Amino acid sequence: MIEEAVRILRQTSSLLVITGAGVSQESGIPTFRGKNGLWQNYRAEDLATPWAFERDPETVWRWYDWRRGIIKNAQPNRGHLAIKELEELYENFYLITQNVDGLHGRTGVKNMIEIHGNLWRVRCTRENITFMLLDVPLKEIPPRCKCGALLRPDVVWFGESIPNELMEKAFSLLETYETLIVAGTSGVVYPVASFPTIMKSRGASVIEINVERTPISDVATVSIMGKTGDVLPEIVERLKKMV
Ligand code: NAD
Repeated sequence: MIEEAVRILRQTSSLLVITGAGVSQESGIPTFRGKNGLWQNYRAEDLATPWAFERDPETVWRWYDWRRGIIKNAQPNRGHLAIKELEELYENFYLITQNVDGLHGRTGVKNMIEIHGNLWRVRCTRENITFMLLDVPLKEIPPRCKCGALLRPDVVWFGESIPNELMEKAFSLLETYETLIVAGTSGVVYPVASFPTIMKSRGASVIEINVERTPISDVATVSIMGKTGDVLPEIVERLKKMV
């Protein structure tokens, strides 16, 4: 399977990579679904929705604080680093990540869309302006903007839409790129879950990497079962040998 993926990647001049929580699992960050997923202990609908924040902003904020605490001590793993190397191998490269942990950014990857936002960034619930959390004095939880309104994590919650400019950029990539690697995502959170099908129906190749089968496996040209921290570095290694 890896051989087939490498054959496709060798003939590709533009590469799009889509990642999900599975890519950060080997950095010690819990996923939402799959074995030991975050939602086995917490209900998504109690925490990651605009309604939950309206009802109980303090609990939602504390849950994000808990997640930030885990992420602060985590490091990008071999999968994240391999994706950064892929960016160096391809002139036309883009990463769309659903992760909000900021670990891809810490590898220095340049062409990236954080399509579900970033939990180190906060947004005023009234004025729609954003700040990095470090720059906000935490006198109370949740903290408030200078205008007096609550600040919330600048992430896309269940039931919310992805900002238009990010969707437009994503669609321009889906319509033009030749090959997609989709790694560590359960393929059930829309609209990103539909991206592999959109590319495949245009004739692009789709390479999936996951520890288990997902709805994307039926669409993929090649489906590789394995950890992203093992499979991605091996792909990069083989691609480099062929250069
Ligand atoms: P998900 O939790 O629904 O699915 C994770 C997938 O990763 C599963 O299919 C699982 O089998 C696979 N996986 C687990 N470990 C793996 C590994 N080592 N190698 C390869 N695959 C592995 O994640 P998702 O599809 O990204 O769900 C979408 C939502 O979850 C997004 O909105 C995202 O923001 C959010 N989320 C983000 C983080 C993060 O930023 N690290 C963590 C949890 C959830």
